[in-house]
Amino acid sequence: MSLNKETFGFATKAIHAGEEPDFRDGATGDVVVPIHLSTTFARKKVTEPTGGYEYTRSLNPTRKALEEKLAALENANYGLAFSSGLAAESTVLLSLLNPGDHIVAFDDLYGGTKRLFNQVFSNFGFEISYVDATDTSLVENAIKPNTKLVWIESPSNPLLKLSDIKAISKITHKHGVVLVVDNTFLSPYFQKPLDLGADVVVHSSTKYIGGHSDVLGGAVLLDDLAYYERIQYHQNAIGAVLSPFDSYLTLRGVKTLAVRLEKHQQNALHIAEYLSVHSKVSKVIYPGLESHPQHELAKAQTTGFGGVLSFEIKGTIDNAKQFLEKLNVFALAESLGGVESLIELPSLMTHASVAKEVRDQIGITDTLVRLSVGIEDIEDLISDIEQALA
Ligand SMILES: *Cc1c(COP(=O)(O)O)cnc(C)c1O
Repeated sequence: MSLNKETFGFATKAIHAGEEPDFRDGATGDVVVPIHLSTTFARKKVTEPTGGYEYTRSLNPTRKALEEKLAALENANYGLAFSSGLAAESTVLLSLLNPGDHIVAFDDLYGGTKRLFNQVFSNFGFEISYVDATDTSLVENAIKPNTKLVWIESPSNPLLKLSDIKAISKITHKHGVVLVVDNTFLSPYFQKPLDLGADVVVHSSTKYIGGHSDVLGGAVLLDDLAYYERIQYHQNAIGAVLSPFDSYLTLRGVKTLAVRLEKHQQNALHIAEYLSVHSKVSKVIYPGLESHPQHELAKAQTTGFGGVLSFEIKGTIDNAKQFLEKLNVFALAESLGGVESLIELPSLMTHASVAKEVRDQIGITDTLVRLSVGIEDIEDLISDIEQALA
């Protein structure tokens, strides 16, 4: 059985890719890949590692199964699994860039990615420019002779702004620049950046891919063999690999990605529509609403709108705090993508480190609330919001 790009649908690949039962002599035919905890692998001949395995940092069978599964889901030739999303991002940057190289990045990136660029990589001679990537021409205008990477995230967080991946990839290809897309928010179930022309996809698998808020991880998916070999070399050399147990948890989580995301989206759309007509809400931001300024682009480049939405409460920051603290089903917590519903106030939580003038300028107002809608019963989620808004 070979679960490649053409032969099977997404849900089938999510369950079977990378985990074909082993029927070789002496094997037991497990339908779930075992957790290979061994850090080292014995061989019979000095120069012949058994099955290619030598030492778990370089290659581990459980991690390899996950890497193959994630590659199959993104329609990628190659996949690599890391100990966190930021470990994956750091390894991509170290593998593809040299000091003096320039990165063009979306100005609305995940805060941890911006910290990595501004506080860490900038110290090693990398140059970074931020642009509003919702306007494709600004991306092209920012490209310079030493630009090596364009780095975007679509939709962005918490304002759910989209970048046109196909249009940007045409520009990056014209200029010989690598396009990296952080696909954490929609997962490959709803968006496949490589099919749209991106060169490298990164994930925080901590979010939807793992899906249960119990395992930190990251992934890199790509088609180019030379880049893959460089990133794999650095993955081993730096050592930011996903552990066998965390690989197992992620394998277990990702099998239900399709059913989970259908439900996340159904609940999110329902809540977005409910809030749109609520008297205490001034604005709802969700790409699945026709009122979203990029709703048409969302329909064109994604097969779904995801489970994250933001809205603005009328009133003061204290009203917003009261609302958040009154909820019972929604947990007041950062992060997203798990089966449980989470809620947070970006201005005082995830985006507190962004200066207030900058926040106001880009639209992260004091009363902007972000929801990661879970897969609970929608009636319970709506009545929880209803009583807290009241
Ligand atoms: C959480 C997140 C990351 C960072 O991933 P970690 O697994 O927390 O290191 C990167 N990008 C996005 C969009 C995220 O949401």
